[in-house]
Parts: sequence; C-alpha cells; structure tokens
Amino acid sequence: MSRLQYGKIALLISILILLVSCMEKKSNGLNTESEKIHIAVTLDPFAGFVQAVAGDDAEVSVVFPPNVSPHNFDPTPQTLMDVAECDLYFRTGDVFQLESVLMDKLSLMNEQLKTKDCSVGIDIIPHNTHYWLIPANAKIIVNNISEALIQNFPDREEIFETNTKKYLSELDKLDAEIIEKLSDLRTRTIIVYHPAWTYFAREYNLNEIAIEKHGKSPTPNDLKDLINLAKEQNIKAVFTEPQFESAHARTIADQIDAELVSINPLTENYIKNLSEAAEKIAKYGK
Ligand SMILES: [Zn+2]
Repeated sequence: MSRLQYGKIALLISILILLVSCMEKKSNGLNTESEKIHIAVTLDPFAGFVQAVAGDDAEVSVVFPPNVSPHNFDPTPQTLMDVAECDLYFRTGDVFQLESVLMDKLSLMNEQLKTKDCSVGIDIIPHNTHYWLIPANAKIIVNNISEALIQNFPDREEIFETNTKKYLSELDKLDAEIIEKLSDLRTRTIIVYHPAWTYFAREYNLNEIAIEKHGKSPTPNDLKDLINLAKEQNIKAVFTEPQFESAHARTIADQIDAELVSINPLTENYIKNLSEAAEKIAKYGK
C-alpha cells in the first residue's frame, strides 16, 4: 500500500467515526425529547384542553393559527408535516368540513396517524362548528381527550386523571359563573357578526342574531331588518371576532348607535376567555 492509500483510508475512518458520533448524538437527543408526547389539534381552544389534561407531558401543535378565520385558511405544508408526525391527533369532528379535507391530506402523509374525534357524545347543531363554546360541551371534550390519552399512554394514567378531575370542576365553576352573570338581563338578544355563539345562546337562553349567514354577507334587506330589530330591542353592542373583517358590523353598529365589541371564540385560555365573553354580553344586555 502506498502512502497515499494509507492517507485515504485514515481519512475514511475518521469520517466514519465522525458520522457515528453524530448519529449517536442525534438519537440521544431524540430519546430525551420522546419523553414529551406530541399532540396535534385543529383549533386553539382544544390545545388548551389537551394542556389541561396532559400538563407538561405534552407538546401541542395547532393547525389553524388563532388570528385567522378557520373557515377560509390553508395550513402551510410545514404545519401539515408537523401534524402528520404527531403521536395523537385530536379532531374537531365532521361538523368542521375543512378539517375533513385536511384529514384526507394527513392520512396520505401518514397512514398510521392516530386520531380521536373530540365531538363524540356532543349534541351537534347542523353546520355549526362552534360546539366548544359552552362549559357543558367542554367537559365532554375534556373527557374524550382524557380517555384517548390514557388509552395511548397508560403509564401516565394517574396524572391525566388527576388533571382531568381538577379541570372538570373548574368548568363547573365557569358554568355557574356564566349563569350568574347572565341573570337579570334587559334584553337576551345578541347581535353577532359570525354565528359562533349559537351553542352558547341555546345553553344560556339567549337569542343570537348573526349578520353573516352561512359565510355570506347580508343583503340590503337583511341589513334593514337587522337594524329595525336592533332599534326595537335597544341593542347596545354588535359583537365581532378578531378573526373577521367587520365592515358590515361597523355599519350596523353606527346606524343603531351601538358599540362594536370583540369577543373571541378561539383562544387557548378557554376559561378566562369564556368568562370575559359572558361579562361583555352581560354588560351590554343590562
Ligand atoms: Zn366560526
């Protein structure tokens, strides 16, 4: 063997050693990270529910960012790849049509993807996705999440059960608080831009009137009727959401001399958010 050949072999060996040590480092890294469960959800409030049950054990990816309207948004390929690799994906369910499109893509990317439908056991209002916006349904969702987490990660059962129990009792408190806040209202009619509060209205005996119907802007006649009704009932607020442009809501608010008030159906801090929404509805309904 020539000196040159020895040199080449030595170089090859050192490259091999380097490669092996890099691979070891990588697999070590993955081992420590795999302690965290990787969960994916479609919408932000569900991330909050997962976090409430799993605590620090879970890292949660959300498909739709909180400040866009999930009714017309395409998740990025990066997000889809991240979600396709998760340990368990909590679905909003078939009532959310865009999610079904998403599921087709995800199951092509990962045939083994484990999913759980959070809407199981909930009395769904046809074509209305926003079922999480009452504590009674949040309790069903949290139980569904808890059940699936325990089934998939039985070694953490105890911690999941403790966390679930605690959160369910907080949801009971929230429900009582909302009932209290919404007692003695002058009017039980609320005008909203987008019909996100239909479940909330049904649960707490309110009359929700939406400016936008089935994703469509109101006709001039619809607007006229709405303005008449608002004047009749002396409505003092038109509720909008941060995810929507609110030109129509502004028009109505101006014409009936009401305020434009934002309430958010999509935040991770569910309890605080729903309590604030009830507070605002109460304030303008008194
Ligand atoms: Zn919506």
